[in-house]
Amino acid sequence: MVSANPPVIEVKDLKKHFPVKKGLLRRTVGQVYAVDGVTFTVRAGETLGLVGESGCGKTTAGRAAMRLVEPTSGSIKVEGKEIMGLSKAELRPYRREMQIIFQDPFSSLNPRMTAGDIVGEPLLVHGVANAKERQEQVSALFARVGLRPAQMKNYPHQFSGGQRQRIGIARALALGPKLIVGDEPVSALDVSIQAQVINLLMELQAERRLSYLFISHNLAVVEHISHQIAVMYLGRIVEYADTRSIFTNAQHPYTEALLAAVPVPDPAIKRKKIVLQGDVPSPVKPPSGCHFHTRCPYAVDRCKVESPPLREIAPGHHVSCHLR
Ligand code: SF4
Repeated sequence: MVSANPPVIEVKDLKKHFPVKKGLLRRTVGQVYAVDGVTFTVRAGETLGLVGESGCGKTTAGRAAMRLVEPTSGSIKVEGKEIMGLSKAELRPYRREMQIIFQDPFSSLNPRMTAGDIVGEPLLVHGVANAKERQEQVSALFARVGLRPAQMKNYPHQFSGGQRQRIGIARALALGPKLIVGDEPVSALDVSIQAQVINLLMELQAERRLSYLFISHNLAVVEHISHQIAVMYLGRIVEYADTRSIFTNAQHPYTEALLAAVPVPDPAIKRKKIVLQGDVPSPVKPPSGCHFHTRCPYAVDRCKVESPPLREIAPGHHVSCHLR
């Protein structure tokens, strides 16, 4: 199913390669192909789940899309405007539109600042409110994310993990962004707290027509919140479709393997059991042809030499595999 909502961010053929340097002279001896030609769109009021094992490049892809790390090449359009090539000053208005929530609420908050100052800092930096307005806005944000405004004067260590992530969400909301990138935003939390934080994010999305790029290593976590899911393997997207198609009609062997690890609530539903051997290969020297051929149970000779393009096999359902 293809959504009719307008795109908030359109990323095309995004690449981020990091040089590998060695020796006294720090000569470049290779490249880490962290993100190697990734294309996706996040639409207004919708969530794209970006999923893959650790080391697949999903975090770098999220940060490069926001230009928090400088992409090597590609195109990034925010509400139709190209932001690649913009200077820091030109990028400033777009920074307000795109905010990030980090994985670890224990290290992403400055321990020397009060929670109120942390949430109000973006308003201060962008000069959008005087002290009194800031206080009022921060108080309202605290209430909205389920914290007591009286807790504004507390320090991060005085909050639980779930409460700290609520502070991170309030901070991300402060400037009224259109897009929030969540980089494993619930991975460090207990399962019961994960559900509360995901429900809060979904409520905020419905209220404010927010768009999320939700990055996770766990398909089960993104299922509930995502409208679409992109599965990444070694710097590339291997399958990209609406959430229902991914869960009921996955076409890529890697997606099948990730799904095999997701518990099924109905025992009558049988999933293919694919257990992946080994770790993700190094992005410094990715396997030739299809990057997945070293772990794929269906690999044929062609897979070792020819890289499969990401093809649309049904409306809105894209797969990168020679056998599909
Ligand atoms: Fe497996 Fe070949 Fe398909 Fe790659 S192209 S996923 S190796 S069958």
